[in-house]
This record gives sequence, C-alpha cells and structure tokens, in this order.
Amino acid sequence: MKKLVRTEAVVLRLTRFKESSDVVSLLTRDEGKLKGVAKGRRRPKSRLRAPLELFTYSEVVLYLDRDRDLQIIKEAKVLKDFDVFRRSHSKFLLANEIALFLEKYLPEHQPVNKIFNMTLKAFLTLESCEVCDGLVYAFKLKGMAFLGHKPVLDRCVLCGAQLDTFVDESQEVLVDFVNGGVVCPNCARSRSDLKKLSPSEFEMLRSLMLGKFEDIADILPTQNVQETVNLLVKLMETP
Ligand SMILES: [Zn+2]
Repeated sequence: MKKLVRTEAVVLRLTRFKESSDVVSLLTRDEGKLKGVAKGRRRPKSRLRAPLELFTYSEVVLYLDRDRDLQIIKEAKVLKDFDVFRRSHSKFLLANEIALFLEKYLPEHQPVNKIFNMTLKAFLTLESCEVCDGLVYAFKLKGMAFLGHKPVLDRCVLCGAQLDTFVDESQEVLVDFVNGGVVCPNCARSRSDLKKLSPSEFEMLRSLMLGKFEDIADILPTQNVQETVNLLVKLMETP
C-alpha cells in the first residue's frame, strides 16, 4: 500500500543513483529508518539539493510503500542545516560515526521517536562542543540502551551481585564483552578474556552512559575506554 507521508528526517547517507539522482538514507521521526530516491537531485537547480545534503535536518514528503526497498522522496525543506559538519573535517568524522552507528544497528521502518530526538540532540551538541569525542561514545552507549542492549554497569552481569559489594573506588573493574557488563571477582575466576578498567576509566564509562550530552561532550575517552565501548557495541552483531 502506497501512502503519502510528511515527516521530519535526518540525512544519514547519500549514494549516487543513475545519472542525476541520489539514494538517500534517512532517519525519520515517524517512519523510522528508510531509503528513498531523490530524483534529479544532482541537477544544479534541484529543489531537493539543499534539504537532502548530508546530516541536514529536514521535513520530507515521500511516497511510502513498505513492500518496496526504495521510497520516493517528493519534496523536502530544510529545518536546520548542520553545515558546520561539512566544513570541519573533525566534526564531519564524528557526525559520520553517529550516522554509521544508526545505519548499521537500527532496524528499518520501526518507530524511533526517542532515537530521533537523541540524534537531533547529539547533532545540536556537536555543533558547539570543542573536543566532542565523548559525545560520540556516549551516543553509542545510549543507543545500545535504546536498542535493548544496555551494558550492565551497576552489578555483576553473571550473578547479579551489586557493584558496591565487590569493588570500592580504588579497585579496577573487569568488563565482560561476551555478556555485556561488569563481572565480580568470583565470576571472573576462570576467565582470561576480560578487560580491566582503572577506577577513573570506569567512572568515565559510567558518565558517558548516564550523563547529558552537553555535560560529557568534551570528555576525551582514553584508548581503553574507547575500545571498551566499541567492543560492547560489537555485541549487537551477535544474534
Ligand atoms: Zn558475579
């Protein structure tokens, strides 16, 4: 069934399609993630050009047919042009990392109001932060939580013992990437594949997961914390 839909959207990716068109990967507020064809977008005077620029927040009108892989984008209007991401190489890379996370892990055509709001918030924060790495790692951790894979950081992921019963503020914390959370010393005994985080690194990880974007955006995560987040994210790839 084909229907005409008007919704807000963020452009996640553009791929050239035929002579003068683009396939646009969109995160939409009401229809979830989807791909649409923007016919003639590469022509100089196309009205779809600016509103479907990479990372732009726009209102789009599209013909939606869920039986098809590609929807047809009829009109689009810029709501906010995040052009700073296209002018600054470092911000481009960070915005792109957020877009790639969504492209890879978000299922298509599922309502994603919360993730949509979170993405918009992240982009708004990314406009004004300075270091911004913390923002991207926080986005991944919060995104995992929204997708039902929240890392367990307040208790042992295996036996459920509360964190404060097996570590104090001066101890290293062990993280298990098979089960997605911290592990107590008892459960850790026969395991050699756990990652150690120093107390300050663990605190950093927790702040990234729980803090507001504007408060944690300029944290620069240590190599160890970056690896921890990326390995936790990879868990979503195993069914
Ligand atoms: Zn345990």
